Amino acid sequence: MTQLADNLTRVHQRIDSACQRCGRDPTEIRLVAVTKYSPLKIVRSLLDTGQHVLGESRPQQLVERAEQLPETVEWHLIGQLQRNKVRAVLPHVGMIHSIDSLKLLRKVDEVAKELQLAPALLLQVNVSGEASKSGFTPEELQRSWADVEDLSVHRNICGLMTMAPLTDDVHLVRDCFAGLRELQRQLNECSKNIQLTELSMGMSGDFEIAIEEGATLIRLGSILFDGCPA
Ligand SMILES: *Cc1c(COP(=O)(O)O)cnc(C)c1O
Repeated sequence: MTQLADNLTRVHQRIDSACQRCGRDPTEIRLVAVTKYSPLKIVRSLLDTGQHVLGESRPQQLVERAEQLPETVEWHLIGQLQRNKVRAVLPHVGMIHSIDSLKLLRKVDEVAKELQLAPALLLQVNVSGEASKSGFTPEELQRSWADVEDLSVHRNICGLMTMAPLTDDVHLVRDCFAGLRELQRQLNECSKNIQLTELSMGMSGDFEIAIEEGATLIRLGSILFDGCPA
């Protein structure tokens, strides 16, 4: 799959250039390859290129694929998780980007304790305030912070995630990412026992802006698989 290898090379070049523009070290940024639309065959070719951090948005598909692919894959769940799927998905994930409510966090707390698992967790924030988006509002997260810190699963919370609005207005996109970084700063300032170090933001259309605004995890799908058989 030279197309896939070419795409990956180009993406890494763009990550490097974005880092250069804002004085960051490219090793600070982890690429999560979002495989939700790609057939298993292509995903295997991706693994052959050395990309082992994969993201799926549906818990069911993540579990199925985790069972079919080598254990060296680090699986990231990036899409909505219902409480009744937590038990099934938890044994397979290295990170969940999409903890979008206190109810879900409590469920993960309970199941993680029971199964003695410690997946890394990101809290999803609806920075842009669009009704269609899930996630904590910034105000809600600030209000709930003491409750979050009280759960034993607080140890696994390592950052925040957001999705920018779908718009051509790059200023709105940048404001959204900058807003997430500002929320991270505020929460870290008042935290007793949580340090938020990760910012998961940036997709195929906006990852360079996200890097400039401090992303540590970027979630790329379509740009990696462009031109590959569907
Ligand atoms: C699908 C998806 C992505 C990847 O989107 P592309 O635009 O294809 O890069 C990233 N994050 C989330 C939450 C997604 O659902």
